[in-house]
Amino acid sequence: MLNNEMLRALQQLVGSDNLLTDPADCWVYGYDNSRRHALPWAVVFPITHEQVVALVQLANLHAVPLVAHGRGTATTGAAVPIQGGIVVSFERMTRIIMCDPVNRLMIVEPGVSNQLVQETAKQEGFFWAPDPSSAYFSSVGGNLACNAAGPRAVKYGTCRENTLGLRVVTGQGESLDTGVYTTKGVVGYDLTRLVIGSEGTLALITQATLKLLPLPAAKRTWQVTFSSLEAATQAIVNVMQQSLIPSALEFMDEAALRLIQTYSPGLVHAQARAVLLIEMEGAAGMMEEAAAQIEQACRVPHFLEIKMASTEAERLTLWKVRKALSPLLRHFGSQKINEDVVLPISRLPEFIERVYGLAQRHQLTIVNFGHAGNGNIHVNLLFDADKVQEQEAAQECLREIFALVLSLKGTLSGEHGVGLEKLPFINQELSPVALKLMSDIKRCFDPKGILNPGKYGSFSFESKP
Ligand SMILES: Cc1cc2nc3c(=O)[nH]c(=O)nc-3n(C[C@H](O)[C@H](O)[C@H](O)COP(=O)(O)OP(=O)(O)OC[C@H]3O[C@@H](n4cnc5c(N)ncnc54)[C@H](O)[C@@H]3O)c2cc1C
Repeated sequence: MLNNEMLRALQQLVGSDNLLTDPADCWVYGYDNSRRHALPWAVVFPITHEQVVALVQLANLHAVPLVAHGRGTATTGAAVPIQGGIVVSFERMTRIIMCDPVNRLMIVEPGVSNQLVQETAKQEGFFWAPDPSSAYFSSVGGNLACNAAGPRAVKYGTCRENTLGLRVVTGQGESLDTGVYTTKGVVGYDLTRLVIGSEGTLALITQATLKLLPLPAAKRTWQVTFSSLEAATQAIVNVMQQSLIPSALEFMDEAALRLIQTYSPGLVHAQARAVLLIEMEGAAGMMEEAAAQIEQACRVPHFLEIKMASTEAERLTLWKVRKALSPLLRHFGSQKINEDVVLPISRLPEFIERVYGLAQRHQLTIVNFGHAGNGNIHVNLLFDADKVQEQEAAQECLREIFALVLSLKGTLSGEHGVGLEKLPFINQELSPVALKLMSDIKRCFDPKGILNPGKYGSFSFESKP
């Protein structure tokens, strides 16, 4: 709980309009999309960088936890204040400070939605590459803290590759500008990339300089249907071996297609066992060659059909199938474990095949889809949470899936991050040396461990000297 001195100081700092202390008001800031919940002691809505500096200094003085909150769409529990303390909501820091097309950058506050960034950039003929499916709602601060990405990452990379610099406040309340305003720069360690993906455990982001890319002149989308899983995974490998890199290469397996057919009949071929959604963008003159490469890569045994969209309306129809999936999963089973593992492309066929084996052995429904061009597969284990046996089977199956991913030289998370969900597993991927270095880094940024405690980086605080 916050003492009276701290409460008075908070009121003075941000004003009572930007402070919640009633548990009923604070309740909703205790969730994220993991559906986990912990009640914060207070919620503060800073509106300036200076207020964030003062807030962190105050929290340091009283050793009070601070948990940054964008829009609470994280799927891992990363935004849940499990040790209480103050939730720092950035939803009122929503200014676009500058859009600079000449230098191909945009400077924004952390509460701006990804969608607003895209709309603003579009007016100047540009876009920001990170495109999570939650773009309409999720914030740039949350995107950066999770190193979020989406379908376009296969061609353009994630937040780390598309952010030039940050303004942040460390766990000691120091103001720090990282990065450059130029497209090159190699003075010192890359603190920008370090803070990106650190899930609010090293510093609070109060401003970001985003790298913009010119909108492509032309775009084509293909939906390719196969009557076997092996055919689709082979086509993924083929597409990624060709010279033109797709701007999206999405995969949906048979269980995913069954869901779509149940709730939106007619959207996919009746004999479909796997579907790929492939997009190419670039110069208009490149599209003929792109179409030829896609055809060649996908005409494998058990290929069923290929549909091409060349207008925006046709394109949206093809994407409807893929975009329907995440919300549809909510209709199925009472619980889902939604993972986002990444495999080297060449190991995808073996991985998916072996996940099917695990699903059968544990008698679980597993739905696989995702950003196959990056080898990033959303593996969804669906089960009835009220049945203890199913719950135990799902947990055991998950452990085996993670072991399989690592044995195939993959990684446990491509975009959702660690949060609380994957915390017990990270020592299977990271070496003791890496873990120790990470906790040393955490200590440098946040010596008292007040930023998002109990998460990433705070794992070895018990060994603090
Ligand atoms: C329907 C749906 C679809 C999704 N699709 C995708 C997808 O395609 N790709 C993908 O990558 N993710 C996806 N996600 C996950 C999620 O939307 C992203 O991780 C997003 O980046 C979180 O943004 P947010 O503003 O909601 O952050 P929050 O959930 O509020 O916070 C996420 C983390 O960021 C930290 N944080 C927030 N703001 C700051 C800040 N200013 N400074 C420091 N730390 C901060 C929080 O403490 C927390 O650790 C999806 C989620 C949903 C619900």
